[in-house]
Amino acid sequence: MQINLLKKIVEKTAGVGAVRIVDLLYNKKDINEFLIAKKLGLTINQTRNLLYRLSHLGILSSIRKKDKRKGWYIYFWTFNVLRSLEVLEENLTQEINSMKQELFSRQQKRSYKCKICGREVNEEAALLNNFICHECGEVFELADNRQAIEDIMKNIAKVEKELEHVRSEISLEREKLDQKLSRNMRREEKKKKELRKKNRELKMKLLNKMKKSVKSKKSKKNNKKKISKKSKNKKKKS
Ligand SMILES: [Zn+2]
Repeated sequence: MQINLLKKIVEKTAGVGAVRIVDLLYNKKDINEFLIAKKLGLTINQTRNLLYRLSHLGILSSIRKKDKRKGWYIYFWTFNVLRSLEVLEENLTQEINSMKQELFSRQQKRSYKCKICGREVNEEAALLNNFICHECGEVFELADNRQAIEDIMKNIAKVEKELEHVRSEISLEREKLDQKLSRNMRREEKKKKELRKKNRELKMKLLNKMKKSVKSKKSKKNNKKKISKKSKNKKKKS
């Protein structure tokens, strides 16, 4: 379930104490930081510390609004699901890489173990100490790496399976966002079209008005000219 993955990444990045934030914010929007503090049973400063740590990674985002009565800013928080999954993906990938490195070095290098105190050292360290444990003086034995190697391989397989799950959730989430984006774009396009149509109509109306007024002015001018010509003619005759 997606919410469990989100809890996992919050735990990895902000500790077990922060996990309850996921329940408070999941599937919600713009949650008041004072409400979060109250529900977590923490002071506002402790809560803000947690929230900032998570927002620094992009797991949470916030908007702020001025409290008109008190005059200070209050932050409202929202979970960024896609970004959280991406952070988890990075995290698990790193985990797998470091396990693979350890596996490689276990497979390549021999190590030695003290059967009394359980100390384990690499070949160089054992050689330096003449293969004697400097904790208890016992002679080192060649450590049997097989169990450790098997454990690491099991762990790698387990985390790889988790990573696969996270990746499929990521692609689902991206699809959802794409759909939302194209819905919004279609809506904007429709609005623009309507606006263009309105503007066109307005222009036509204006144009028609101007044409009419020019016509009427012309006809008035023509009338005046006719009148003045007539009067000139009259003057000449007289
Ligand atoms: Zn020892």
